Amino acid sequence: MTDPIELTSVPAEEPVAAQAEAVIDLDAIAANVEVLREHAGTAAVMAVVKADAYNHGAVAVARTALAAGARELGVTTIAEAIELRAAGIEAPILSWLNTSDADFAAAIDADVEIGVSSAAHLRAVGAAARARGRTATVSVKVDTGLNRNGASPHEYPVLLDELAKLEAERAVRFRAIFSHLAHADEPDHPIVEVQRDRFVDAITAAKRIGLTPELVHLSNSAATLTRPDLAFDMVRPGIAIYGLSPIPERGQLGLRPAMTLRGRVALVKEVAAGEGVSYGHEWIAPHDTHVALLPLGYADGIPRALGGRFEVLLGGVRRPSIGRVCMDQVVVDLGPLPPTVREGDSAIFFGSGAAGEPIAQDWADTLNTIHYEVVTGIRGRTVRTYTHGGELA
Ligand SMILES: *Cc1c(COP(=O)(O)O)cnc(C)c1O
Repeated sequence: MTDPIELTSVPAEEPVAAQAEAVIDLDAIAANVEVLREHAGTAAVMAVVKADAYNHGAVAVARTALAAGARELGVTTIAEAIELRAAGIEAPILSWLNTSDADFAAAIDADVEIGVSSAAHLRAVGAAARARGRTATVSVKVDTGLNRNGASPHEYPVLLDELAKLEAERAVRFRAIFSHLAHADEPDHPIVEVQRDRFVDAITAAKRIGLTPELVHLSNSAATLTRPDLAFDMVRPGIAIYGLSPIPERGQLGLRPAMTLRGRVALVKEVAAGEGVSYGHEWIAPHDTHVALLPLGYADGIPRALGGRFEVLLGGVRRPSIGRVCMDQVVVDLGPLPPTVREGDSAIFFGSGAAGEPIAQDWADTLNTIHYEVVTGIRGRTVRTYTHGGELA
């Protein structure tokens, strides 16, 4: 180089790897959508990307799922839908859980389909549509036995009456009837049949008074993968998009977990026999050993209840957690032999399992919860990154 500026310039800084990282494999997301499409047959796939795509990043997941053939997107709140619109996503988006004072005007302006569960919700949508001078797109959520969101049997006819009025004045366009299953993860449970029958009855009741939905949909991930007879016009998988089996007793069902949680070793040290490790000294070294400190704690979503009850993959080997999980850090045992693990090495807390690392289901089993809670709980200082085609995206 002859350029004197080159000679004196400081080298470009290498990006500093995050201490705690949730790596999202977008190829896994795409492959999981393909698996779901195969099961859905002729039914469309609505990718459920609520709660920031189950904490995988709503915009990146939505784009990937649509590119892989998902037709529509489902979210909980209007704010979630508008985040997707702001990113330039034009596919249909349904928002299904809002209070009557929600910003329905913003939803109408952004062409977001609104799910309503009561006549009061629908009246509020109608008022917003009149105020904007535009037609709102509405889907009716009917409660067929979950007894959570959705119009109850008492409310449903009142809601339909209101819908007929608003449709007549073109304040709303009636898009769909949908419902949600209580026992989809037990596909042979008799309640599934009860809910299907009630769903079909609800559709018939609407049609009888001249309200014909453009489409109807019922199935979540578990039903999509095990009950093709319930696919109707569209399926609404969430957890399976992220590669987590909706029925863990039946195995992975061809799905690939998309989130890998990893952290980098901050310190390696010796601990002498008889010394206690971490607050309260719940673990006492049975012999001279070495430990590694990992800078993720309960503030980052490692549940405190996991202390001493999980393993990480570090240096190609599973290493047990020892002592309590702290706010910012955990300690793992490397054993008595001279350690090959070094500061800066990467430890996998959970991932796809392909390299022998734990999976989110392992934490769920230990904690007596579900993997949905494990992946949505990762937070704090954890930085989210994406891979695509084996490269950082
Ligand atoms: C969350 C949700 C889904 C997706 O459920 P999974 O079990 O994650 O597949 C589908 N429909 C509704 C109404 C939901 O709230």
